[in-house]
Amino acid sequence: MKKTITVLPGDGIGLEVVKATTTVLDKVAALYGHEFEYKYADIGGTAIDKHENPLPQETVDTCKSSDGVLLGAVGGPKWENHSSGLRPEQGLLGIRKALQLFANLRPVTGHESLTDASSLKKEVVDNVDLMILRELTGGIYFGSPQERRQVDGEEAALDTMIYKKSEIARIVRQGFEMAQLRRNKLTSVDKANVLESSRLWRETVEEIKGDYPDVEVEHMLVDNAAMQIIREPKQFDVMVTGNMFGDILSDAASMLTGSLGMLPSASIGEQPPGLYEPVHGSAPDIEGQNKANPLAMISSAAMMLKYSFKMTEEADALDQAVSDVLSAGHRTGDIAKEGETALSTDEMTNKVIEVMKK
Ligand code: NAD
Repeated sequence: MKKTITVLPGDGIGLEVVKATTTVLDKVAALYGHEFEYKYADIGGTAIDKHENPLPQETVDTCKSSDGVLLGAVGGPKWENHSSGLRPEQGLLGIRKALQLFANLRPVTGHESLTDASSLKKEVVDNVDLMILRELTGGIYFGSPQERRQVDGEEAALDTMIYKKSEIARIVRQGFEMAQLRRNKLTSVDKANVLESSRLWRETVEEIKGDYPDVEVEHMLVDNAAMQIIREPKQFDVMVTGNMFGDILSDAASMLTGSLGMLPSASIGEQPPGLYEPVHGSAPDIEGQNKANPLAMISSAAMMLKYSFKMTEEADALDQAVSDVLSAGHRTGDIAKEGETALSTDEMTNKVIEVMKK
């Protein structure tokens, strides 16, 4: 199969982890007889320097004409308080909007060999495997912009939370479909005991669930979900929720596994391409030192294979390679314990390539 991938290295360690990932994808292509064509485009601080625009139109056009987009990271001290007033993050928010990416997927996978890095007990996090699906373009972060304000003359401020039924239905359907690809369980998280928008959310889930009879559905209030995710994360398969609840729950859940350098994410819309990026930022403190952990970016590419290209076998083989490398005790500096040798970005990448098999 031939696929075109837009590569947006961005800034800082973004360049390093993206380079590592295309090398690994070349191995996938060689093993399975695929052809991946990479088109490079600028975003973030690099794009401000080159084009005086964190998201040049050319970058948007290149992304739209591809089958999947890989993004490294954006930002860094160089562009904080930049004289132009432009910010690298505008590129990130802009591309999510331009590609109409309404669903954000954050898998949380606890590798047994790494659970010492978690602040929770080993038996709670060993082999945890859940997916948080967050609605990304609606809810209180968008609301009704004309109403978002500090209320004049009063000690008060106002934000509005609006969800259209159509917005809820499309993310909830994604949740059901995701659950069908995993362990057939969907937890819908809301605050239906208080919020009208949550009552509509719950009603919509109830209306849709008949279309997915093979998926077990439960409703959970967000305060309980926050507690359960720490208490017993292994009870969850797919959690689907609105923008703000998903923002908070996914950050809490991300700490189950320990390191930022391990966490992938995907953002998808109704049309391709999806955008795949690590959760971490541009890590200016280790930039250019060949120290960055490439595994979050590599795992994001595995998500691209699975969700955008429907290459499930290839994605599973890549996830397995990452897991095998960790089980064999290989570590970059961010996940190495005292006394353990820290591999460079290139060395870790080569380990993944070495163990990757069909
Ligand atoms: P960060 O994620 O870049 O780094 C936090 C810490 O984690 C640092 O000590 C860093 O060295 C370490 N780290 C992160 N990723 C790592 C990896 N792959 N391997 C090894 N260590 C890793 O967060 P920050 O320091 O708060 O932000 C730095 C810049 O990145 C800022 O400009 C911020 O705006 C930007 N940022 C971008 C994104 C994004 O592009 N999606 C996300 C978060 C932050």
